[in-house]
Amino acid sequence: MSRLDNILKLGNSRLHQISEPIRENELSEAHMVAIEMNKLIIDFRREYGAGRAISAPQIAYKKRLICMHNEGMHVFINPELYDESDEMMELWDDCMSFPELLVKVRRHKSCKMKYRDLNWEEKHIELKDDLSELFQHEVDHLEGILATQRAIDDKAFMWRSERKV
Ligand SMILES: [Zn+2]
Repeated sequence: MSRLDNILKLGNSRLHQISEPIRENELSEAHMVAIEMNKLIIDFRREYGAGRAISAPQIAYKKRLICMHNEGMHVFINPELYDESDEMMELWDDCMSFPELLVKVRRHKSCKMKYRDLNWEEKHIELKDDLSELFQHEVDHLEGILATQRAIDDKAFMWRSERKV
């Protein structure tokens, strides 16, 4: 059994539940979960050559926690997006909950995000392009929304193997 089997897949109704905020006294538990999530991203990349981040509900931890792997582990607790740009972008999105499927979605080209880090400090960051669409995808997970629900039309689906680079 691979660690990747722990990721809930498209069709599992738990992916559509709304996740709960993390409280300060849950930080050490959240940290341990984030370490597992980080390992999953590394494994997923080895297998599929893609995958930048994962949200906690994807491994059935129904809390508002996102882990990104980018030359190390980055943890975002109770993230909230704001100041979303009017300007939109279209892209073929993917998800660790449906590894072989790509979905064309429309996302805000930039936004800002408020979150807490592992020291419970409140942070604000500006997100553009790749990071903007990535965190819109991940925050959607916390609301129980999958990229398939953001498909721009009825032809917005493609197997990863059909992608021409
Ligand atoms: Zn996803």
